Amino acid sequence: MFIEIQHINKIYTDKDNNANTVLEDINLEIPKGQFVSILGPSGCGKSTLLSMIAGLTSASSGGIVVDGKNVQKPGKDRGMVFQEAALFPWMTVTENVVFPLRKEMNKKQAIERARHFLQMVQLSNYAGHYPHELSGGMQQRVSIARSLAMDPAVLLMDEPFGALDEQTRSRLHGQLEKIWIDTQKTIVFVTHSIQESIKLSDRIVVMGTRPGTVIADIEVDIPRPRD
Ligand code: ADP
Ligand code: ADP
Repeated sequence: MFIEIQHINKIYTDKDNNANTVLEDINLEIPKGQFVSILGPSGCGKSTLLSMIAGLTSASSGGIVVDGKNVQKPGKDRGMVFQEAALFPWMTVTENVVFPLRKEMNKKQAIERARHFLQMVQLSNYAGHYPHELSGGMQQRVSIARSLAMDPAVLLMDEPFGALDEQTRSRLHGQLEKIWIDTQKTIVFVTHSIQESIKLSDRIVVMGTRPGTVIADIEVDIPRPRD
């Protein structure tokens, strides 16, 4: 299986040595190309689980395998998009997308690639603008373009539209769906919105809290434009 999450446990210990079990025996298999939502109430451990797939947080026990390799640390096979776009404010939109690419290719190639992905998120007209000149939704699209340009096998998204108004969110849902169809990426999408998970994903993994466990795993089978 493309992503294998095996017997993941995560226990945090506070300063008084009290153990807080945040994740308990999480087991998931995610096939290549799936768009899976991780849905659950605030505090159930969704972000912790996602950041383990990213390699940013370690498990107390258990392991995660992506494309046959044990996840130990962040890698360019896994792109991450957070609730905040976190763009460099002193760089233009293009420069923000080019920056991580420069380790992989020369400047001309990086600029060409940035142009392609900015077109994909419909921001070609804002290539030379600075982040503060863009709306929140547009900044988030830059962040998505920046991740996709690195050609990750998996796109990990942590409430990427949580800070946006309803109308903007709805528009970005349409764009993300199109990107998913066009790029065939595997997407793991953390949200606490049932509507969002139903609208976007193939599959909804529902987590419960205290401790964080998988309480349901549902195939979404509603007609979509891609069907
Ligand atoms: P969610 O994304 O579902 O809201 P989180 O993964 O952010 O949940 O958090 C799950 C639980 O883990 C929460 O109770 C949170 O307080 C706790 N937690 C998260 N990070 C840490 C940390 N670095 N140290 C201690 N507890 C943490
Ligand atoms: P969002 O997804 O955040 O609503 P859109 O790109 O869909 O952003 O907004 C529609 C159009 O409104 C944009 O293409 C752009 O022309 C214009 N626009 C929105 N916000 C700004 C802004 N802060 N500065 C300049 N133009 C903006």
